[in-house]
Amino acid sequence: MTDVVTEGGCVCGAIRYHVHGQPTNSMICHCQTCRKAAGAPVVAWLTFPFARFSFVCGTLTEFRSSPPVVRTFCSLCGTPLTYMHADRSTEVDVTTCTLDDPEAFPPSYHSWVSHDPRWLHFHDRLPAYKTTRQTA
Ligand SMILES: [Zn+2]
Ligand SMILES: [Zn+2]
Repeated sequence: MTDVVTEGGCVCGAIRYHVHGQPTNSMICHCQTCRKAAGAPVVAWLTFPFARFSFVCGTLTEFRSSPPVVRTFCSLCGTPLTYMHADRSTEVDVTTCTLDDPEAFPPSYHSWVSHDPRWLHFHDRLPAYKTTRQTA
C-alpha cells in the first residue's frame, strides 16, 4: 500500500507534492490558530511520516505560529500546505484539501471544537473533542 502515490498542490499550481501510502491520522482542526492561518472556519489535516512526503516543485514560505510549530504556505498564492511540530519531528501534517482528490483520506474526528465561532455546526456524527483527542 505504501507504493500508492497521491498528489496535491496549492491553488496556483506552483507547489506540487506527493504522499505515499495511507496517512497515520486524518482529522479536522477547529483551533483558533488554524482558523486564522487559513482564513477558514476549520482546517482538515493528514499526518504522514516525513519519509512518505515529498515536495515536487515550488517555493514555500515558512512561518512559526508558536515556538514549536512551523507552518508553510505557497509564496505565490498563500495556500497553507504543511504543519510541523517539534514534539513530532518525524512527521508532517498536510492540509487535506490541497490533495487533488480531497476525498482520498476522509477525516475520522474533530479537535478543538471549544474554539468554534457560535455559528459553526457540523452534523457528520464524527467524534468531536473540546481540545485534543488525547485530553478530551
Ligand atoms: Zn501557489
Ligand atoms: Zn489547529
